[in-house]
Amino acid sequence: MNYSDDIQLHKRFDLTGHRAFITGSARGIGRAIAMGLAEYGAQVIVHGVKESEKLASALESVRKLSPTSFAVTGDLGDPNAPEKIAEQIKAHSELPDIFIANASLQFRCEWDKISLEDSILQMQVNFHSTLKLSQLFYPVMKAQKWGRIVTIGSVQEFRPHPHMAVYAGSKSAQENLVRNIARQVASEGITVNNIAPGVFYTDRNEEALSNPEYAKKVTDCIPSHTYAEPADAAGAALLLCSDAGRYITGTNIVVDGGLRLPG
Ligand code: NAP
Repeated sequence: MNYSDDIQLHKRFDLTGHRAFITGSARGIGRAIAMGLAEYGAQVIVHGVKESEKLASALESVRKLSPTSFAVTGDLGDPNAPEKIAEQIKAHSELPDIFIANASLQFRCEWDKISLEDSILQMQVNFHSTLKLSQLFYPVMKAQKWGRIVTIGSVQEFRPHPHMAVYAGSKSAQENLVRNIARQVASEGITVNNIAPGVFYTDRNEEALSNPEYAKKVTDCIPSHTYAEPADAAGAALLLCSDAGRYITGTNIVVDGGLRLPG
């Protein structure tokens, strides 16, 4: 069979005409992914728990690249938040055909002391809201025979931290959900994948990593000997969200500098 050598790969990364919703995109990894997808032409819907300076600043930056982008808010610990968020989106545009489940809640606690309440809340934010939002956006993706769901997991799917047992479990559950759904929607032009970050320098671990002793202990465990910056996750997200990655589904891209590799 003859295929053209002129594959014009750069065009396959173009997201013009697509609408991307990224939970927790006021800062950190979510914000970098929002910027990356906006740079490649998507209309971006940024999200935070509530109105904040960081959310306003993320929206301002995203709009410089993609002027029709807008922001929504909602605490994903509230089981009704996904529907309320979908309503906010519908007031501005169609529901998204790219969904990045990035927001998460992480409580540090020994496994035998975690309260049921804290366990349920982490599962609500990290797993159930991903399922519900995917269910809400699926009909639009199915109708246009094109859709992308990308969940943000964690290297803790491979190397669980002793003080984050439920968080690690929520990420593994989410990754299993990805593989399950991916198989069922593959024939509908929808891909579903997970990205598992290693150690990224973001607000959630700024305090820990600003301690030089702790930071050295962490980087000594990482084969690349450095932690990541938020933009390091954006390339994987762009690949999975674009036509360049249309044949990739049900997989897990680990962005961890080799941290998961056995020693
Ligand atoms: P981050 O800087 O802590 O930012 C978290 C974002 O999620 C914020 O925008 C926050 O909204 C939002 N969020 C938190 N709780 C929420 C809730 N209950 N409802 C709705 N939104 C909520 O996070 P990050 O470090 O960039 O992490 C992003 C993703 O990567 C997470 O899924 C995390 O588990 C994963 N990850 C991170 C690392 C790492 O080293 N940083 C490692 C492995 C995996 P507000 O801005 O409004 O507060």
